[in-house]
Amino acid sequence: MDFRLTEEQNLFKQTVREFSEKHIAPRSREIDRKAEGIPEEIIKGMADLGLWGVTIPEEYGGSAVRGEELVYAMNAVHEIARADLSMSLPVYYLLALGWSYLVVRHGTEELKRELLPRVANGDWFLGIATTEPSGGSDLANIRTHAKKSDAQYIVNGEKIYISGVVEAAQRGGGHLTLFKTAPELGTRGMTFAYVPLKSSGITTQKLTMMGRMGLSTGMIAYENVPVPAKYVLGEENRGFYLAMEGFNAARVLVCAACTGGAERALELSAEYTKQRNLFGQPLAKFEGVSFEIADDYAKLEMLKNQLLKTAWMIDQVSINPGAIARKEINANVAICKLTAPLLGVEIAKHAMMHHGAMGYTIETPIEMLFRGLMSYVVGAEGGANIMRIIIAREFIGDVAIPYK
Ligand SMILES: Cc1cc2nc3c(=O)[nH]c(=O)nc-3n(C[C@H](O)[C@H](O)[C@H](O)COP(=O)(O)OP(=O)(O)OC[C@H]3O[C@@H](n4cnc5c(N)ncnc54)[C@H](O)[C@@H]3O)c2cc1C
Repeated sequence: MDFRLTEEQNLFKQTVREFSEKHIAPRSREIDRKAEGIPEEIIKGMADLGLWGVTIPEEYGGSAVRGEELVYAMNAVHEIARADLSMSLPVYYLLALGWSYLVVRHGTEELKRELLPRVANGDWFLGIATTEPSGGSDLANIRTHAKKSDAQYIVNGEKIYISGVVEAAQRGGGHLTLFKTAPELGTRGMTFAYVPLKSSGITTQKLTMMGRMGLSTGMIAYENVPVPAKYVLGEENRGFYLAMEGFNAARVLVCAACTGGAERALELSAEYTKQRNLFGQPLAKFEGVSFEIADDYAKLEMLKNQLLKTAWMIDQVSINPGAIARKEINANVAICKLTAPLLGVEIAKHAMMHHGAMGYTIETPIEMLFRGLMSYVVGAEGGANIMRIIIAREFIGDVAIPYK
């Protein structure tokens, strides 16, 4: 057993950190305040380093290291999140990495050739559209549906709280979208397909969120949208299970965004409390403060180990599908996703308090982190209670599932 990153992985992490500190961190506040998206120079700079393609094989324009995709992706997202505490770029980035990972495994050859090189060079946005107004947690009861006609599906319905609706419209790309193709079969009657945002019959509406201001969130309405069969992932009616497989990779990357942001917030706390003098001594000398930082540091280190193990497990399965049971991976991912957003927000809250009133101003990036991470607490990529349901199901058994 070896818990260390390899020399190549360490070098990669260091390269991403240097780029992020130089080119992303100084613009993070601007990304949040302008709310006009990610500056093109940053997207291009990341493309020059091959960062958009770490889960995409070379033959489709990427730079993936086979069998280590998730470990590389996790490290890249972590580093970028340390630099953009608004969480706008980390989320934009992790969506592209996480969902192209699923396209590589289950997309048709035509879809891979059309989509992946454009994601790998940073041109196109790639996201996910599962949530509907009737409830994002209860995916078994989505209403968006499609009828097959010749070599295409005609999709009707509505999705809400979807990240990247403006970016996909402006740059190109779209969302892996879940819809029903055999409603009477429940979760066995859903199909998952890439739907370009510029397809005919699509309209969007942007929503105003409280954080992640540099990445749009909105509604997508589908009225007789034609989706070619070549855009379907895997087989028709297997979509629910493919979406769940995709969520495992995406959730690991969400947690990497949380650990990156939280790590930086802890550093800011340590730096500030060392130089802030109160009652004749540095604030960090008071155990009420230093013990809190120590507790947070300990919890974060444990989470980082759990996350590394989980990314490694998914990478093992990508080389050898039978290497680790799917249920074991589901539970480990859920442990990460239950813990990381809540711990990240807790650490951001402590960091804000260590900075006193200044922590509540835009003089520090901590308030951006707080707003950004809350998206993952309230629900993005699955709320905390949904993670508890997955963990309970593994530990207690099927009696702990709220649906049939
Ligand atoms: C900023 C942001 C970006 C997002 N981006 C995307 C995106 O790109 N694509 C996409 O498809 N979705 C996206 N979402 C939506 C996200 O996936 C949903 O918010 C999430 O699935 C929860 O759905 P909901 O908001 O409808 O809450 P609901 O499903 O209505 O749940 C409400 C609350 O009840 C809890 N709950 C639900 N069921 C149970 C239960 N059985 N027992 C106990 N508690 C329960 C939930 O955890 C939640 O806290 C985004 C959300 C946000 C905030």
